[in-house]
Amino acid sequence: MALDKETFDQLRDTLARFVRERLMPLEFKVAEDNAIPEEIKAAMRDMGIFGLSIPVEYGGLGLTMEEEARIAFELGRTSPAFRSIAATNIGIGSQGLVIDGTEEQRRKYLPRLASGELIGSFALTEPEAGSDAASLRTNARREGDHYLLNGTKRFITNAPHAGLLTVFARTEDPANPKGAITAFLVERGSPGLSFGPVDKKMGQSGSHTCDVMFDNCRVPASAVLGEKEGQGFRTAMKVLDRGRIHIGAACVGAAERLIDDSLAYAMQRKQFGQPIAEFQLVQAMLADSRAEAFAARCMVLETARSKDRGDPVATEAACCKMYASEMVGRVADRAVQIHGGAGYMAAYGIERFYRDVRLFRIYEGTTQIQQLIIARNMVREAQQKGTA
Ligand SMILES: Cc1cc2nc3c(=O)[nH]c(=O)nc-3n(C[C@H](O)[C@H](O)[C@H](O)COP(=O)(O)OP(=O)(O)OC[C@H]3O[C@@H](n4cnc5c(N)ncnc54)[C@H](O)[C@@H]3O)c2cc1C
Repeated sequence: MALDKETFDQLRDTLARFVRERLMPLEFKVAEDNAIPEEIKAAMRDMGIFGLSIPVEYGGLGLTMEEEARIAFELGRTSPAFRSIAATNIGIGSQGLVIDGTEEQRRKYLPRLASGELIGSFALTEPEAGSDAASLRTNARREGDHYLLNGTKRFITNAPHAGLLTVFARTEDPANPKGAITAFLVERGSPGLSFGPVDKKMGQSGSHTCDVMFDNCRVPASAVLGEKEGQGFRTAMKVLDRGRIHIGAACVGAAERLIDDSLAYAMQRKQFGQPIAEFQLVQAMLADSRAEAFAARCMVLETARSKDRGDPVATEAACCKMYASEMVGRVADRAVQIHGGAGYMAAYGIERFYRDVRLFRIYEGTTQIQQLIIARNMVREAQQKGTA
């Protein structure tokens, strides 16, 4: 259920002020320390950021997809690491439970995910199974009223802090010799569960990933998400579908921030006796960035509204993720160019954004995987309509 307009506007304005006044001044420190200050996490918890997408009956704000996208526009305007600490609770770390969990599982975990007391992670990728997630090898063997999990998951966002992981593993399936994919809710502290060292990354310093290892990791049978074996891959795809709109929105926010910074720089930096913003070749870069960010904003909002109406949006969500993540890469590249040498220097922060936004084209389905989804859906729709 949507918030009433006044309450939502208040939330968005408070968040926009928080981003401007508290988060932006900390961007260099977070990158330097590779950590989000505790008081910032606490303030984000107080604002309800961790529970944006979790239904009200489980303690969240229960925002519509459009509202969530509008919040992601604002959060996207600062270092992605700030969003990332809450992003798994908003998206991949909670939505499996929201979409396919049993009532008991929802009641057990969602209120603590919504408050941010518990951090949720989503463990699908493996060393040998990335884009081809369906080839995952982590295995779960039933033993009485427990399962034993064995395998390794790779690059798992927020795993170093996670209290709950949604883990995808193969269970026995008489119809399929490779086994069916089942999702498990694995709590930190489960016997046989361990975590690798925090990964060193190109960007998004302050946001952490690591390997997650399962060595005869013992979980109760009640840990099967939805208490149904063999549903895991479908759940993962539904979760990722939804997340693509949110990531598209975060890319729009980052692009709009980079455009503001580029315009401000271009208006004050003088060469040949005049502000560089007066040179038409610089104006072309500003205009291209503005038009592309505007296009992505419109795509995200239109898709979010369709989703809120209950329309199928798999193709459109993939379009949003693909276009917005590629768009912000181009905008960041132009931002470096507009800043000239300063754009390349760490002191200005533009090169940091350039590295930070690179990730958006890779995780939750690379650009190539979005292209495959879009094209496959186009072919399927044409076949169904009988136009091909
Ligand atoms: C910082 C970070 C955080 C992450 N967080 C999580 C997380 O929380 N949970 C999680 O489960 N995973 C997470 N991932 C993993 C991420 O989703 C994968 O890295 C991504 O899906 C790509 O998989 P891969 O790295 O194995 O690359 P590969 O699949 O090996 O792809 C390599 C290249 O080949 C291309 N390619 C692959 N298949 C095809 C094809 N059929 N057609 C055309 N091109 C193709 C890809 O597009 C890419 O360019 C994270 C990754 C990073 C870097």
